[in-house]
Amino acid sequence: MRVLLVEDDEMIGSSLKAGLRQDGIAVDWVKEADAADSALALAPYDLLLLDLGLPKRSGLEILRALRGRRLDLPVIIITARDAVADRVAGLDAGADDYLIKPFDMTELVARMRALQRRFAGRSASQMHLGEIVIDPALRKVTRGDAEVTLSAREYALLLALAERAGAVLSRAQLEEKLYGWGEEVGSNTIEVYIHALRKKLGSELIRNVRGVGYTIAKP
Ligand code: CA
Repeated sequence: MRVLLVEDDEMIGSSLKAGLRQDGIAVDWVKEADAADSALALAPYDLLLLDLGLPKRSGLEILRALRGRRLDLPVIIITARDAVADRVAGLDAGADDYLIKPFDMTELVARMRALQRRFAGRSASQMHLGEIVIDPALRKVTRGDAEVTLSAREYALLLALAERAGAVLSRAQLEEKLYGWGEEVGSNTIEVYIHALRKKLGSELIRNVRGVGYTIAKP
């Protein structure tokens, strides 16, 4: 999952970024509206985390503009404003969820996962791929009866493919899901992770479509 974080507070921004990173979520962090607009125009994000109180244009204005362009991106507002009117304005402007600062990291991640599920049209939290079961809520993968240990990036890669089962994702698309700005990506990094996943989950699960990319068959 790749997320755009719009937050002007240095402390909150850096701790959010670090926390999400640990969950294998790639985060691009901007601090004001213009930078948010440029980022949204460039990268295919899975989710937007949006602070309301920002230096130039407010988060609410960013959101209204986004929905005005009919961009169907899941949005969670994160803000210290706890007045009911602000919350209602945020939801009316097209936010999908709302968290009042300070919040617990685990709650944020759980809500992000729930939103991803909703947007993917899945109501069950587990994903079944033959003998492989992915449980995003527990960040757990099992093969048959055995739990499989994956690194954060291996897990993120598996999830990216599983969420789009049936579709072929190119190496560039997978890199975009796994890495935020300024993170070094080796030329064969994706291949290395794919190799590791095949070793742990069986060679059948992820198929290489020559010259196009990788795919997991729709269950
Ligand atoms: Ca703020």
